[in-house]
Amino acid sequence: MSARGIPYRDKAVETAPREVIEWMQLTALRKQVAAALKTPFYGPRLAERGISSGEDIKTLADIRKLPFTTKNDLREAYPFGLLAVPKEEVVRVHASSGTTGTPTVIYLTQHDLDMASDTMARSLQAAGGTKDDIIQNMMTYGLFTGGLGFHYGAEKMGAMVIPTSAGNTLRQLKFMKDFGTTMIHATPSYLLHLHAAIEEATDLKRSDLKLRKAITGAEPHSEELRQKIQDKLGIEVYNCYGMSELNGPGVAFECVFRTGLHIWEDRYIMEIINPDTLEPVAEGETGELVMTILCRDAMPLLRYRTRDLTRILLDPCPCGRTHRRIARFTGRTDDMLIINGVNVFPSQIEEVLLKAKGVGANYLIIVEKAGDLDRLTVQVEITPEMFADDARVINALRDTLKSEMTALITINPHIEIKQPGSLPVSEGKAKRVEDRRPKA
Ligand SMILES: [Zn+2]
Repeated sequence: MSARGIPYRDKAVETAPREVIEWMQLTALRKQVAAALKTPFYGPRLAERGISSGEDIKTLADIRKLPFTTKNDLREAYPFGLLAVPKEEVVRVHASSGTTGTPTVIYLTQHDLDMASDTMARSLQAAGGTKDDIIQNMMTYGLFTGGLGFHYGAEKMGAMVIPTSAGNTLRQLKFMKDFGTTMIHATPSYLLHLHAAIEEATDLKRSDLKLRKAITGAEPHSEELRQKIQDKLGIEVYNCYGMSELNGPGVAFECVFRTGLHIWEDRYIMEIINPDTLEPVAEGETGELVMTILCRDAMPLLRYRTRDLTRILLDPCPCGRTHRRIARFTGRTDDMLIINGVNVFPSQIEEVLLKAKGVGANYLIIVEKAGDLDRLTVQVEITPEMFADDARVINALRDTLKSEMTALITINPHIEIKQPGSLPVSEGKAKRVEDRRPKA
């Protein structure tokens, strides 16, 4: 595909020269700093650093004079410590998906909500969505932005949106068939679940469905898993990155080339830092993604530490967009398991499982203490086709998985092969790791 025929929502902005993007960033950053100065949370923190007005930001490099913000800071500022406008101007509140403790909340004015929806619409159009699409949103509605945040963006694009929310798979399939759903939004584990349900259904065939694309997010997953879902469902699967703190889904999104996620740099400033030293990493190196939001009046958020690990892709994208791309996430700094002193990401284990023949995508990683050492166990289901009483086949599979994982993570795991369907399937966010070690 050439750059001609590429769907843009706002071509001038999406293909703007670097200097123009940076000029937009600097102008917006000054406004965000001015807004932050009005908040109880940032006011004193900025004053401490000698910043008393947006004009103290002379160049984009001055962003490094600003403090980082963490999830804990957001909890500390709960509920209104980051409010920069009169409360009457707020029209919406969202919160992160955590289920325990003080939530982290965001608030939006009508303008902010319009911007968030426009960002999401831009992302959907980049992925080839149009107003003719019929979009079924299978993410939970409520405080979590994956529901309403996505919904408003899809409506803004002009699509027909079916807000089925998560779960109730049989009804999902009925709606997909009866309304001719062309695009769905769901977690990767739910997409697999949906595929299994289509296979099992007696009154529905894949050819009854008009499905062509799925937008997936909320769970880190590997390229292998994406391929698997694409092959099984016969659709294109797009990665979508977002978090409620940054307005929800659509912060970074794959275009039709699906080679990394564009970050809309007129709306966010990204930095990649070393999470230990907090210094920027060398260009193209992996580190923690730090984001400053540029399009929110009600609640500024400066240098937010996302805990997500990624790197900036240096090659230009064939779509012609000048907004830089980041690579698929390696994991989260807080998902990282330290096992006998070695850093292990669940995504590395998944990578091995998905390349192996005869194992399903459902797995569970268990870490526990065995004497002074940590023990890593990976429970994995075999596929129904693999289902065999032949111990030699099962043993060979176990040995292969064990040696491939050991090669990748340098830790020797214990592999437990399970019968198909014996591990729990979640309809929401899959729980893949059980850390049973006593908390220090
Ligand atoms: Zn692109």
